[in-house]
Amino acid sequence: MNKVADLPLYCASLFDYQRRSAREVRVGKVGIGGNNPVRLQSMTTTSSMDTAATAAQCLRIVQAGGELVRITTQGRREAINLEQIKAELKQQGQDFPLVADVHFNPNAALLAAERVEKVRINPGNFADGAKKFRELDYDAERYAADLAEIEEKLRPLLDLCKKHGTALRIGANHGSLSDRIMARYGDTPEGMVASCMEFLRLCRKNDFHEIVLSIKASNTRVMVHTVRLLVATMQAEGMDYPLHLGVTEAGSGEDGRIKSAVGIGALLADGLGDTIRVSLTEDPEAELPVAALLRDYVSGRAGHAPIAPVVGFSYSPYAYQQRQSHPVGLFGGGQTAGVVPDLRGCGAPMSGLLRPEAVIVDAVDSHLPENWTGVQRWVPVAGNEGFVPTQAAWPLLDVKTYLADRVGSGPRVLELSYVDLQPELLGRLRTDQEVVLLLKTGHQNGTAEQRAFFFALQQAGLSHPVVLQRSYTDAVAGDFQLKAAADTGLLLLDGFGDGLSLSAPAVPPKVLLDTHFGVLQAARVRFSKTEFISCPGCGRTLFDLQETTRKVQARTGHLKDLKIAIMGCIVNGIGEMADADYGYVGAGPGKVSLFKNRELVVKTLPEAEAVDRLVELIKESGDWRAPG
Ligand code: SF4
Repeated sequence: MNKVADLPLYCASLFDYQRRSAREVRVGKVGIGGNNPVRLQSMTTTSSMDTAATAAQCLRIVQAGGELVRITTQGRREAINLEQIKAELKQQGQDFPLVADVHFNPNAALLAAERVEKVRINPGNFADGAKKFRELDYDAERYAADLAEIEEKLRPLLDLCKKHGTALRIGANHGSLSDRIMARYGDTPEGMVASCMEFLRLCRKNDFHEIVLSIKASNTRVMVHTVRLLVATMQAEGMDYPLHLGVTEAGSGEDGRIKSAVGIGALLADGLGDTIRVSLTEDPEAELPVAALLRDYVSGRAGHAPIAPVVGFSYSPYAYQQRQSHPVGLFGGGQTAGVVPDLRGCGAPMSGLLRPEAVIVDAVDSHLPENWTGVQRWVPVAGNEGFVPTQAAWPLLDVKTYLADRVGSGPRVLELSYVDLQPELLGRLRTDQEVVLLLKTGHQNGTAEQRAFFFALQQAGLSHPVVLQRSYTDAVAGDFQLKAAADTGLLLLDGFGDGLSLSAPAVPPKVLLDTHFGVLQAARVRFSKTEFISCPGCGRTLFDLQETTRKVQARTGHLKDLKIAIMGCIVNGIGEMADADYGYVGAGPGKVSLFKNRELVVKTLPEAEAVDRLVELIKESGDWRAPG
């Protein structure tokens, strides 16, 4: 593989929204890539042997906006039954494309390739079987022999796909890499990319090009940096295959939606992605409105007004690096990203366990909840003439007032946007270290404009802390949350921003506050609650995932330093819970196994006892905290 430093940039421009140019791959009547819109899809959770239930769920997915539907295909029986599902749908006048989701079974892939329009294989386990988690020594000779073996298993599938016009998705997941890749690269972005590239090169060698690529992870930072690396690596080898995007095991409810919006939104923002699936631990049709909003919201940036490009900055799009800033009060200097809800025009939440660092309020005496003592107020100078700044109340200045020097020295907040970075202001900031910058944007592509701001600040040698500010008029809380997550996720994942300040006067103040914490957690810069990594379920699921997830959340939702995985099956669940501290994994009908750091601790206990035993395990391990 090329060295990361030698790779081309992963997108056409960091300042101008443009969709990546990908070749078109036909999946039945649906084109992916080329000039097609970003396609929406989901996956069934029914047993793939239950023809009527699966066909009915496929239909609900399509009625909700899905354009193709994936079906669990774990073995020969399920692969053969795809024919019945197709026939059932045909009888109902439906011909949307179906995708067979195959993991460990090349024979199932062969049978599926004759029956449906697309087959998904996982390069981590298609030819290598289940990962053994063993230390293996792979010299060049052994590596070459393994590749030859993979080609032998892959070639018949490629031949069948060519014959039937079937497309292939090569889909790698964080945590399910082959022993061969693990031995060379570990479970790293480079490993996931290498895993895909091995298969891609074999496809090309066999003149097969109907390929869609995906690399998914539950960790948004890993997911975004790895997909970028994949695109750059493909580009370096002259490949332009379309991309399928998704955050795996994103969870449910607003946390799952925000996490998906951060990861998927960050990639869509740079024009990457030709089809998306939002994975929620909910009914699959609930995923489609989320996917549609993300697609439509980000693609609405096309044709935006130009953003003055910045040149000569240094930037690491393939690995996390926090921007170095100096501290001003609670902001910057490597401190935890601050939360600063803009409460102007909407009042404060009545109470809340989560406390922000500061709030933007209309006046210095604006009401705040009683348990918010010590929360700083940022007060606009305009309209509050005569207000005397204190440690507890900082003046919020616009650029004109700041340059007119009407407030003197001491910690202050300067509200500005990219276009304000003119020589006079830059000169003044060079001599004034006590200012927090509140970075607003009204640009149609605000994400790119705010990114340009950080590059320009770096070029000017300024290290002031920057709080990202975005405003929304949405009255539907879910829409506001998805947009805020999609707008700011990319910047936070790239280490830009010492805090977050959102304004949404039409949503309840509690939603506004919680969204700050949700976005920062989804972007992995501030953890304020347990991180649940729960799979969306599929035909392999061994228990009621939604109900179980609710039960586990109710008992452990206050353990903010822990990641707890709830996975429907043992086949993929163990690998894919990747970096979870604890795992609750379906081990058989009515049976659950518990894991700690991916090590099996309690084997196949009855489901009815499993949540209590998980809590006991957390207590025995010293990770339990009393709620409250
Ligand atoms: S962990 Fe198992 S049950 Fe859950 S989505 Fe993955 S394969 Fe399906």
